[in-house]
Amino acid sequence: MAVLTIVAVTIVLTGCPPRNETKKNKAAKSNLLNNIDSTTLINHLAYLSSAAMAGREIATPGNQLAREHIVHTFDSLQIGKTGDSYLQPFPFGHENQQGTNVIGVIKGSQYENNYIAITAHYDHLGVRNGDIYYGTDDNASGTAALLTMMAYFKQHPPKHSLIFVAFDGEEKGLLGSKYFVSNCPIPLANIMVDVNMDMVSRNDSNEIFATGIYHYPTLKKYVDSIQPFTPVFIRYGHDGQKAGADDWTNQSDHFPFHQKNIPYLYFGVEDHPDYHRPSDTFDKVNKSFYYQVCTMITAVTALLDQAYNPSEGYAH
Ligand SMILES: [Zn+2]
Repeated sequence: MAVLTIVAVTIVLTGCPPRNETKKNKAAKSNLLNNIDSTTLINHLAYLSSAAMAGREIATPGNQLAREHIVHTFDSLQIGKTGDSYLQPFPFGHENQQGTNVIGVIKGSQYENNYIAITAHYDHLGVRNGDIYYGTDDNASGTAALLTMMAYFKQHPPKHSLIFVAFDGEEKGLLGSKYFVSNCPIPLANIMVDVNMDMVSRNDSNEIFATGIYHYPTLKKYVDSIQPFTPVFIRYGHDGQKAGADDWTNQSDHFPFHQKNIPYLYFGVEDHPDYHRPSDTFDKVNKSFYYQVCTMITAVTALLDQAYNPSEGYAH
């Protein structure tokens, strides 16, 4: 499996597939997106967006239950820690309340001190007026993707280190990610890029946005390289001056990284009618789209890992 993956990435790096594809290329191509396990992905999603989590609002028992599931998954995959614990507590609000990020590391085989951050927030809006805001797409979907990608990279060790962060308090104003970049357990300068996922499980047009390209144009070719291998339409936009009111630059946890000049790719779908409503539920997920999006993001991340040169950054 590992050898085939390297072959596939090499093909991507060397450009478009030839018109008359060989059997070998086709096998490598299908293998490129055969990276994560769909059953694991869906099981994480179903559990994180279940009624037991009661919408996962920061500093609630439902939020804690979600965090325990994340920690349990980190533990069972034997993911590394940056200190004694996976947990990074942080204070918020006027009443000294506490939120908690969950942080784990897979050490790189060649460049241990250079990191790719893979991030998603696990909190949501909780219960309001008796209604559970399940937050399946926002953002149980990104959290489940993070956990499933982690299993893949544990089996296929990256060249650079990966730091996985499940953020708390995003819905209250990016609290967890702001705290993380100001209190980073590794040198912040060692983070090469942030791959952030927030709302990745449904879209009627089979489209997902890869944003951040306006700010960091050298990242575009890595996303472009994966497009021919996925049935999902990867769209650009929602960043930069033309985006106007639809600029997503400060809309999720990639923003604090951007403020520290760390390049980011943020993957997310266009808003849908169930956005921030109690009806953002598991039954609305397009499982096939969701799985394909997550295999695509995993492939882009693997490519970013292959393509980074610590002395030169990402190739232009
Ligand atoms: Zn969100």
